[in-house]
Amino acid sequence: MGQQHEHVRVAVIGSGFGGLGAAVRLRREGITDFVVLERADSVGGTWRDNSYPGCACDVPSHLYSFSFAPNPDWPRTFSGQEHIRSYLEHVADTFGLRPHIRLSHEVLMMRWVGDELHWEIETSQGTITADVVVSATGPLSDPKMPDIDGLAGFPGKVFHSSRWDHDYDLRGKRVAMIGTGASAIQIVPSIQPEVGQLTLFQRTPPWVMPRMDRTISEAERWLHRQLPFTGAARRGLLWGIRELQVSAFTKRPKQLGLVESLAKANMAKAIKDPALRAKLTPSYRIGCKRILLSSEYYPALAEPNVDVVASGLVEVRGSTVVAADGTQAEVDAIIFGTGFHVTDLPIAERVVGADGITLAEAWKDGMESLRGATAAGFPNWMTIIGPNTGLGNSSMILMIESQLNYMADYMRQLNVLGGRAALAARPSAVGAWNRLVQERMKRTVWDTGGCTSWYMDANGRNTTIWPGTTGEFRRATREVNLAEYEVVRVPATDASAQSAAEPAQVAAETAKTAAETTEAVR
Ligand code: NAP
Repeated sequence: MGQQHEHVRVAVIGSGFGGLGAAVRLRREGITDFVVLERADSVGGTWRDNSYPGCACDVPSHLYSFSFAPNPDWPRTFSGQEHIRSYLEHVADTFGLRPHIRLSHEVLMMRWVGDELHWEIETSQGTITADVVVSATGPLSDPKMPDIDGLAGFPGKVFHSSRWDHDYDLRGKRVAMIGTGASAIQIVPSIQPEVGQLTLFQRTPPWVMPRMDRTISEAERWLHRQLPFTGAARRGLLWGIRELQVSAFTKRPKQLGLVESLAKANMAKAIKDPALRAKLTPSYRIGCKRILLSSEYYPALAEPNVDVVASGLVEVRGSTVVAADGTQAEVDAIIFGTGFHVTDLPIAERVVGADGITLAEAWKDGMESLRGATAAGFPNWMTIIGPNTGLGNSSMILMIESQLNYMADYMRQLNVLGGRAALAARPSAVGAWNRLVQERMKRTVWDTGGCTSWYMDANGRNTTIWPGTTGEFRRATREVNLAEYEVVRVPATDASAQSAAEPAQVAAETAKTAAETTEAVR
């Protein structure tokens, strides 16, 4: 028996939308014996970390918020980072989460201890044990910096979009912005008026549609406050429109041609120079990479202090940045809008499962989970926004809430089993689920649209996006199908005892599991 540590029923890791949502849901299930471990010194996840100028959500706020915590006072249709961050702080207060949250507790390692049926979690402030781990660390939390020759010798300022240095004064500076993803296209128009010269390194042009952002009037807010169903109706409408769009992304990408015409018209309105228009026009199907929303991006690129280099950054020589096509520029600062470690999650190196291997090793050929939540070989461990739960066109909060339903039922199932028991996803069930997901993926714009994106892993497999509607995912995660799990118990000392599956679960044939998996997403 090892050293005794503080023990909790559930350890939630991360306090963004996923972690706070899990905490609310646990309390609603009557579970109060849990902690939320957060490496930073405040809650908010990606909405705490990303504070770059212009940071805002490109999903309308009435949809990009918890259904159980409606906010009638969203100030804009697409709220800014500060308002979303405040909303999450408010959720932490309103739902009594503060006593559970342990700030500045970075998880360094977590190990499944089979003999004890619990997770041993080593944090930067000591070790605790938990029956269940809910990992809500998010796919957009660890910044990705490209490996650029000579970058270490750059004498100026360097930072990543998600680690903005607010003490650095950009006024009048020569700035290189690297990347043209969702973050960069919000940063560019925000800093263009103040910098001296902006050189934008564009490896692949994005498709950009106008963003219909506006202030939500006081009358609308009053209505949502007085008659909450009007806020719910607004949310329902936003959700329904997006659900109707899904089949174009997943089954009929050719239909997206019309949207391409609209995006080209949006560009032509602001970019009069045909040479610049040619540089900015994508050559892949719209939707293959995330469709970006901005009404300010193209106008900013047309300004005289902006230079678009249609090539990636490959080298830094002193204070000169060099593109793959040989273009050079001398700059004072380099801002990397180069995204995140999504398919090579750093946290996966810190999870050691039942077989003594890390999640990163288990996922070396690609991330695979059961219903976006659990993984074979990692009993009583689940993740929020796990593999293939991402969306191209709607609110991730809908997916998170589906996963919370699954988590709640998982906890109920554990309670029913009683005593010391854990659930372990059957490899056959994980396999069946992933075959189904990948089969559906073949027809999608993400696989057929002719682009490379962060949705794909190093093997070219899309392990991030959900190839269906949010409604389908909701149905597939409504409850835990016990046939997809083995029940694990503490090994008895008696030689005749076994730690194997419960008879009832053993009886569940692999073939049946696969069939049920298929049925669930039909
Ligand atoms: P991203 O979408 O991964 O974009 C990274 C960009 O960096 C791409 O344009 C990439 O080019 C470029 N890049 C990488 N290495 C480069 C190099 N050496 N030279 C030039 N360019 C290089 O990252 P992100 O913009 O931070 O967005 C990540 C995700 O965060 C988004 O897709 C979205 O889900 C989320 N996000 C959401 C919002 C919102 O409004 N809700 C806002 C910001 C971010 P390639 O395209 O050629 O790879």
